Amino acid sequence: MERVDCIVVGGGLAGLAAAYGLAAEGLEVMVLERGNYAGAKNVTGGRLYMDPIRALYPELWEEAPFERAVARESITMMGDGAHTTVEVASDRFAGAQPQSYTVLRARFDQWFADKAAEKGAMIVPNMKVDELLREGGGDGRPGRVIGIRAGGDEIGADVTIVAEGVLGMLASAAGLRAEPAARDSALGFKEVIELPAGVIEDRWRLNEGEGAAHLFMGTVTRGMLGGGFVYTNKESISVGVVVGMAAMLQQAEPVESYKLLDEFKELPQIAPLVKGGTVAEYSAHAIAEGGIARVPKLFGDGYLLAGDAAGLSLNALVTVRGMDFAIASGYHAARAVATAKKAGDTSVAGLARYERALRESFVLKDLETSRAIPRIVENPRLFMHYPRAVSKLAESVFTIGAQPSPRLAKTVWKGARRDFLSLATLKDLWSLRKM
Ligand SMILES: Cc1cc2nc3c(=O)[nH]c(=O)nc-3n(C[C@H](O)[C@H](O)[C@H](O)COP(=O)(O)OP(=O)(O)OC[C@H]3O[C@@H](n4cnc5c(N)ncnc54)[C@H](O)[C@@H]3O)c2cc1C
Repeated sequence: MERVDCIVVGGGLAGLAAAYGLAAEGLEVMVLERGNYAGAKNVTGGRLYMDPIRALYPELWEEAPFERAVARESITMMGDGAHTTVEVASDRFAGAQPQSYTVLRARFDQWFADKAAEKGAMIVPNMKVDELLREGGGDGRPGRVIGIRAGGDEIGADVTIVAEGVLGMLASAAGLRAEPAARDSALGFKEVIELPAGVIEDRWRLNEGEGAAHLFMGTVTRGMLGGGFVYTNKESISVGVVVGMAAMLQQAEPVESYKLLDEFKELPQIAPLVKGGTVAEYSAHAIAEGGIARVPKLFGDGYLLAGDAAGLSLNALVTVRGMDFAIASGYHAARAVATAKKAGDTSVAGLARYERALRESFVLKDLETSRAIPRIVENPRLFMHYPRAVSKLAESVFTIGAQPSPRLAKTVWKGARRDFLSLATLKDLWSLRKM
């Protein structure tokens, strides 16, 4: 059997970050990617938060093919025929070191794969791994992972980094993690719509090169857990809708979830933004939303789990993260494997430093801090009652009727008493303190 130091399953951000680091350490590393090229099957919203990862591989970020630095954040609560938007802009969002950039994965992942290849990694596209090879085990123990089987061939490795993404089919089949449950998963639908740079800057009121991120919640998902998003790229926009799988399954009437994106684009708030654009890309993808409670053991005899395959993502309503976790977990995986190889110990004990490093980094710390979020966001009032109530209240404040107007304070008080002063709101506020 052919052997290498390390096999990486999956050429997404986690796998490529691992391969780059391993190759830089002079290890033989082979990335097996089932898509035609790295990035072909990868979906994100999306925007990449830089501060958590800037110090990891700092030489890369100067030349990375980012789209736009996000200068403006907006969130819109959508009610019935009324909506309210909160917009936040800061010089610090897109200053000398922007805190986040929009990215297009087809471009970004290919560039990252080229960088890993320049360091010496072998990137093999069109190669679907069928199985993780194991030795020993039984009685519920996975045994040692000794390599992979793909297309009838077997390749051995001292360590296999499983970075196969959110569905984690190989890892689940090998008993390295549980299969994802509907309650811990969401489904995203997205289009990349091409528009000239000048049109994007005019429509979003942006300075040249700057970008915007806009999230929507409420009627956009018909009140189900989830929301809509629009991110501006250089010469395109990413438009999508995400909806919780369990929320979808609980609907009395079956929901054809892919239709939510068409409905979103037809909304009077969105239609003028996408007008005249050409759809260049359509994708649908699952998202891990279980949080730290669903993160499996991240290492074992001869293997590590990284990125979405390890459940490392976080939807905190106003921020959505997964790409920074994927890159950081790949980085720490590479360091752990390189150290284990030097020490000649790629057993459970030798690879345990990987999980320790993630526990000391923002990855598991941020997921731990946000432990309560996945259960908090199951509350349907967040996606139905509050977007409606906020928009209704705001609408009443800005309305002048035919009759003499009451005092503003009275209008506000009336709306607040109607929709916010209740035991249910108090309970919701109490649960939100753990966000
Ligand atoms: C709609 C949507 C919006 C999102 N928005 C954001 C956002 O704005 N910001 C953010 O940070 N995160 C966002 N995320 C999450 C983020 O995209 C993921 O966390 C991130 O892509 C995970 O990277 P990864 O490398 O772990 O997995 P992936 O990028 O999924 O890579 C896994 C790779 O493994 C390959 N693969 C799978 N099985 C096999 C096999 N058997 N053999 C060979 N190759 C295989 C796949 O083809 C794929 O290339 C979003 C996700 C979605 C779906």
